[in-house]
Amino acid sequence: MKYISTRNPDHRLSFSEALINGLAADGGLYVPEHFGRFGAHDFDGRNHIRQIAHDLLAPFLEGDRLADSLPQICDETFGFDVKLVGLETMPPALAKAGAQTALLELFHGPTAAFKDIGAGFLAACMSRLNKGADKPLTVLVATSGDTGGAVAAAFHNKPNLNVVVLYPEGKVSPLQQKQLTCWDGNVRTFGVRGVFDDCQRMVKEAFADDAWRDAMNLTSANSINIGRLLPQMTYYAAASLWHLRRHGVAPNFIIPSGNLGNMMACVYARECGVPIGEVVLAVNENRPVTHYLETGEYRGFDTVPTLANAMDVGDPSNMERLRDLWPDVETLRKKIRAIQVDDATISATIKAGPQDWGEVFDPHTACGIAAREQLAAENEAGAQNGGHWVVVSTAHPAKFDTIVEPLIGRKVDLPAQLAQLLDKPDYSSTIDPTLDALKAALS
Ligand SMILES: *Cc1c(COP(=O)(O)O)cnc(C)c1O
Repeated sequence: MKYISTRNPDHRLSFSEALINGLAADGGLYVPEHFGRFGAHDFDGRNHIRQIAHDLLAPFLEGDRLADSLPQICDETFGFDVKLVGLETMPPALAKAGAQTALLELFHGPTAAFKDIGAGFLAACMSRLNKGADKPLTVLVATSGDTGGAVAAAFHNKPNLNVVVLYPEGKVSPLQQKQLTCWDGNVRTFGVRGVFDDCQRMVKEAFADDAWRDAMNLTSANSINIGRLLPQMTYYAAASLWHLRRHGVAPNFIIPSGNLGNMMACVYARECGVPIGEVVLAVNENRPVTHYLETGEYRGFDTVPTLANAMDVGDPSNMERLRDLWPDVETLRKKIRAIQVDDATISATIKAGPQDWGEVFDPHTACGIAAREQLAAENEAGAQNGGHWVVVSTAHPAKFDTIVEPLIGRKVDLPAQLAQLLDKPDYSSTIDPTLDALKAALS
């Protein structure tokens, strides 16, 4: 299997090369040259996500130097649970229509959000690729909150790899701050006196500084990396197989989306032949996707801050992969739908969650649930796949306690992996928003 740039099909690379490069030199994103072909029965006898992940990803690593390590890489990535939880409690209108709704819980990893899975796979790959090299790789990440924590947790104590995380000082939630600053050893975290855009600019300047980039052996781990995207296909495959075996029907998926990496993985899984019905994006007030689907004209927007802040993206990078797959908007409209959810609806959905669904939702998952309710207003019986929907739950509600607790009027218990963070020391330091300041701090 080879990977090509969305901007140049002649630029063909192996999986490992695409993973280390991150972004193609021509500015394009790497995409697989073709997709494996699977049917539901190819997974007969395979039930654990690690086994399904291995089978699904094997064609994508075929011929690569990491191919033989794939079973161990999958074991390392899924050192925690992925759960598909059928919801028994439903708003009355849905219950009456005989609807099925399940939550795909992707928040049982070290930072309690779905990014742990992609980051874990990437770390497992990179640590093997750089094994025995004379110089450590340095993964440089700018984060507005969630990504940096997931990358730091995944790469901590991995041999021959260093991580440098830049976050805007004072602009992340207290829990996110803990997840960023509690690392010692090979992870260095810097609070930057500035905003997220300053952090991103410093990363761009670092990659443009040839001498320093080579000296530091810099690489990136941001969400456009194909090594974060492909492993995300595996939980869609597992969830659809589990649902199909339980109910005899392939489910539709609702995916809370921002930069579109999670959605892209679902679409890729369906392209591979995994039994998946409809793919619906739940988006917040940021409108690039709905605007494109409505008008056929793509443009980026200024980012609007919302309660679901990990989805606050005005110009999603993975749009380029989506348009590469289906350049024609007419075709795209047959392949995906998007439902917009405003902040008032997010709040109302969180508030009603315990009563209506018997669940406490974080603001991102609440977007998905709100979309589910909106779909229920359409005729369930006429819906594709008989109204069987899986809502992807991208984060644990305790991660967003300051939003969730006032709405539901009680405390949310911290899962163990977040609770143990609170006792950890803070290893971070603060720097000015310049590359020189970063260089000085690291020398
Ligand atoms: C990153 C993130 C999203 C959005 O995922 P994309 O792949 O960027 O579309 C949704 N929810 C949570 C909790 C996230 O951290």
